[in-house]
Amino acid sequence: MLKTYRASCHCGEVVIEAELDIEQPSFRCNCSICRRTRFWPSVAKPEGFRQVTGESELIKYSFGSKKNHHFFCKHCGVRVFGVGSDTPIGKMYGVNIGCLEGISESELEKIPVVYVDGRHDRWDSGPEYYKHL
Ligand SMILES: [Zn+2]
Repeated sequence: MLKTYRASCHCGEVVIEAELDIEQPSFRCNCSICRRTRFWPSVAKPEGFRQVTGESELIKYSFGSKKNHHFFCKHCGVRVFGVGSDTPIGKMYGVNIGCLEGISESELEKIPVVYVDGRHDRWDSGPEYYKHL
């Protein structure tokens, strides 16, 4: 069920709101940036995403095909969300579940996780090794 969540960076400069269904799978990926940042996204559609504050406090980072944009707070470095422009579902926002406000530890623990093999661009299959992700 879709529900509106607020998510913030550590210092509080960057705040977003997103409609997320945390009963749907979230993602852990072994690609070069997800592994380094331990990014844990839940997916929001563009119409279900809203920047509340801090747009000017974001640094955008892109690499490789530059199809995905990774946003970091320039003060605290926390990555509240990223944007994928060319995904199987079109443009989508990946909201960092670790940044959600108003969610309990027991709710967090129940969120289903799907492991994807982004390192080999195989988005439809799990990686051989995943427990460290
Ligand atoms: Zn911050």
